[in-house]
Amino acid sequence: MASIRSVSPLLAPLAAAATVLAVLMSAPVSARSLPEGLPDIKPLLSNPWSAFQNLSGCQFGDQRQGLARLKDYLSRFGYLPAPPAKFNDMFDADMESAIRTYQHNFGLEATGQLDASTVAKMMSPRCGVADIINGTSAMGKTTVHGRNLYSYFPGSPSWPRSKKSLRYAITAATETTIDRATLSKVFASAFARWSAATTLNFTETASASDADITIGFHSGDHGDGEAFDGPLGTLAHAFSPTDGRFHLDASEAWVAGGDVSRASLDAAVDLESVAVHEIGHLLGLGHSSVEGAIMYPTITSRTQKVELAKDDVDGIQSLYGGNPNFKGVTPPATSSEETHSAAPRALSGPWSGLAGAAALALALSC
Ligand SMILES: [Zn+2]
Ligand SMILES: [Zn+2]
Repeated sequence: MASIRSVSPLLAPLAAAATVLAVLMSAPVSARSLPEGLPDIKPLLSNPWSAFQNLSGCQFGDQRQGLARLKDYLSRFGYLPAPPAKFNDMFDADMESAIRTYQHNFGLEATGQLDASTVAKMMSPRCGVADIINGTSAMGKTTVHGRNLYSYFPGSPSWPRSKKSLRYAITAATETTIDRATLSKVFASAFARWSAATTLNFTETASASDADITIGFHSGDHGDGEAFDGPLGTLAHAFSPTDGRFHLDASEAWVAGGDVSRASLDAAVDLESVAVHEIGHLLGLGHSSVEGAIMYPTITSRTQKVELAKDDVDGIQSLYGGNPNFKGVTPPATSSEETHSAAPRALSGPWSGLAGAAALALALSC
């Protein structure tokens, strides 16, 4: 894939900020070793969704400035259809229904109102891949036993069963200051978590032409219709099999190889945690409602989450088969896991958002 790398003048300050952050946060420099007396760069780290905080308490019938932006958010992640022209600031019945579905998907009380916990979840950094595609989704659906399930992309695409070895290349790394050796190590570790549970194996290769999967750091609009939004907000996205593209927002305060929980920046994000999630998409998994699962859409900053949960393992093994040497997941400290027998529900309809973007990106870059 030819990457589209032109940075608009408007993005230059953002790029500069990202560079400062990258210098500060890039591994192998751990957060602990950051020099003291640095300028306060917190203003550069404003969450693109922080204005949602002003909407806390809104409910059906309200009119409040900013609700249109929240509708854009709900539309982007599949909870509302694309607006005919522009969303208004009315809290209407469609919005109430969309919020109820969102709450159900994220394990929140389905009040249909913008209560504090719902607003907080919506402000959390997350994956750019939508939760609902074409109005339908397996996310949040439950079996007869009441257990949540992993999901697939529409049509359940996967890599061919005969193809057990996949090659990946880091094809766009100039927008991050994390050194190549550290990147290689972090991505190898992330891929290894999925290969341990399956019979798939992954090898890094130098050139994109030789790779099934390409990994790149990009800023803002990078040509696939899924523009990144600076620090926090959306962190990364990846395309379903067998597209193979995996993009990371270069503006994040990525921590690679250091202890992210000790990072001084509130917005520090663990690179391997996000990589493990996006590899799930590259292999064919959609989002899960299981909060402990890697495929849950949000992640908390300054937190590492790299271990596959039972839900992730069930999902990937049903696509590719199990690895007889797999030792299994560490069971959660509390909760008695149920055995479920129902088949996973595949998402129906085309993977509209990213599939369309993929087609567009191919058209632009070929
Ligand atoms: Zn995702
Ligand atoms: Zn992209």
